[in-house]
Amino acid sequence: MNNNNNKNDNRDASQKRRIVRLPRMLPMLLILFLIGSMITSGTFQVTRAVDYSQFLDLLDSGSIAAVEVGASEIGFTLLESADATAINNILSTDGKTITPDAKTVYITGRMDDPGLVDRLRESGIKFTQVVPKNNTLLSIILSLLPFILMIAIYYAFFRMMAKRSGGGDGGILGGIGNVGKSKAKMYSVEEKTGVTFLDVAGQDEAKESLAEMVDYLHQPGKYAKIGAKQPRGALLVGPPGTGKTLLAKAVAGEAGVPFFHLSGSEFVEMFVGVGASRVRDLFQTAAKSAPCIIFIDEIDAIGKKRDTQFGTNDEREQTLNQLLSEMDGFGSNTGILVLAATNRPEVLDPALLRPGRFDRRVIVDRPDLPGRESILKVHAAKVAMEPDVDFHAVALASSGTTGADLANMVNEAALRAVKMGRSTVSQEDLIESVELVIAGKEKKDRVLNEKEKRMVAYHEVGHALVSAKQKHAQPVQKITIIPRTMGSLGYTMSVPEEDRYLLTRGELLGQITMLLGGRAAEQIVFGDVSTGAANDIERATSLARKMVTQYGMSDAFGSMGLESAQNQYLDGRNVSTCSEQTGAQIDNEVRLIIESCQNEAVALLEQNRDALNRISEYLIEKENLTGEQFMSLLEQDAA
Ligand code: ADP
Ligand code: MG
Ligand code: ZN
Repeated sequence: MNNNNNKNDNRDASQKRRIVRLPRMLPMLLILFLIGSMITSGTFQVTRAVDYSQFLDLLDSGSIAAVEVGASEIGFTLLESADATAINNILSTDGKTITPDAKTVYITGRMDDPGLVDRLRESGIKFTQVVPKNNTLLSIILSLLPFILMIAIYYAFFRMMAKRSGGGDGGILGGIGNVGKSKAKMYSVEEKTGVTFLDVAGQDEAKESLAEMVDYLHQPGKYAKIGAKQPRGALLVGPPGTGKTLLAKAVAGEAGVPFFHLSGSEFVEMFVGVGASRVRDLFQTAAKSAPCIIFIDEIDAIGKKRDTQFGTNDEREQTLNQLLSEMDGFGSNTGILVLAATNRPEVLDPALLRPGRFDRRVIVDRPDLPGRESILKVHAAKVAMEPDVDFHAVALASSGTTGADLANMVNEAALRAVKMGRSTVSQEDLIESVELVIAGKEKKDRVLNEKEKRMVAYHEVGHALVSAKQKHAQPVQKITIIPRTMGSLGYTMSVPEEDRYLLTRGELLGQITMLLGGRAAEQIVFGDVSTGAANDIERATSLARKMVTQYGMSDAFGSMGLESAQNQYLDGRNVSTCSEQTGAQIDNEVRLIIESCQNEAVALLEQNRDALNRISEYLIEKENLTGEQFMSLLEQDAA
């Protein structure tokens, strides 16, 4: 809503600008008009250069009407009544005849000729001004023209810049001066966010640590009396979509204070110094409506460590310094609370994190099982649900998702219900939408041929069988060979009975074996392998590598750490901390793990070859298998 208002403001301003522009154009128009009228009114006289000897001949022939002797040249006009043939004899060179007129001014260079004045006296010719002086005014204007043009371009340029940064009106100087001002456009203000802690589900610890700040904003006096200083800021840290923005809004909503929202990347703009002046501007405005909350999203855009190996960015540094000094500057009980969000806390400048600034860190991580269940319920409350929906089951199937994913799932389920012509959302809708969000949309138009379908079926059942038959078994939830848009041709969902935070070496090996089960099945049944295992292989290898480099689970290295994690809240990329030689050894260790797991998978499947065939053929026919169907087929085999 605020954004819309801002847009309207912008439009109003630009209309105003167009109106005031006309009078400013006036001087330019005047100058153009002047030049034009000079040309047409004949201020420009025709001039003609002649030799000094010709001048003397004309003088002797008595054809000259008036003469003006300048410092370096002599101008003269001819008598209209003069003898045309005599003049032509003297002047004409290229056969053109000249009719003497009063308008044409003849010019010749002034020679050192002391007798000239006497001679002119004798002939009785008038000494007057014949060379038009207006010329000089024109030449002044002409020589000024480039400057005028330059100023015009300069002016237009700054107008454009000022406009781009949302800046205001005014002349050339106004344009420059206003670049950094551009108030109210850099952040949005919500007087009432309308969000409360009830809207944020599953982040109990985060809510708890923020509740104290709400209490402070409610009654700062209580804290001031004891002498406790106001908490200045908190940093919300966690992966995208986990509800950081939502939490910040909830704090404002709970405290009933205005919410200033801006993102770090908006701070860093083209003009040097603008970021800093925006910070200043923001804090000034906020101070007027204190108590309030300032929320800086993506603070890593400005708050990066100042001494990076990639060189420095002056603009960003200035902005950061301004932010630091503003945070120090506001008195301890002004009632401004600064919240910031990032998913890369490790790149932040230590100065930002020291006490008195963002000293509190609130971790907003991916929700756990009960968390997911309650997030689903929060969002399900907004749509018409069938009463018997089992949110626990949905939460179980959506391990690893964020709050934003879950909100999306509920919405997708509602869309599906509408598409099916139902008026309420059913369990089936929800489970379908989990798959939709996790595995991508079902792609009905991609049809596998018979051979591909067999291969995919055996591949998926291979995963499922290895998963069910190994020591650290996980129940299979669903097997499907309906292709999805995300690239997988089939899909086996096995769900742990609870969320796991700690995995043992045996369990990790079990996971790798399970991932390699698909490839193993292809190998056993078809004697050939397909490209369908690419993703399995990638995941298995990365698990095995982590076991060696991070979890200390290899025979060769034991508990030696060989990689350190960076960006653990974003993509979890790791940076090697060992020598190249050791790197080669790591590769070898990883290969050993993969090999032994692969052998294990093949062995497991060979032991259960009948089940593999039976279940795969069933799957080829049905395309979908539930966990129960799978288990009953498996047990039937054992009997
Ligand atoms: P972030 O700022 O961490 O990237 P957001 O706060 O913008 O994530 O979350 C995006 C959306 O996801 C929210 O508007 C909300 O609908 C939903 N969401 C995320 N986390 C939660 C949660 N814990 N409880 C309820 N809804 C959530
Ligand atoms: Mg956000
Ligand atoms: Zn697979």
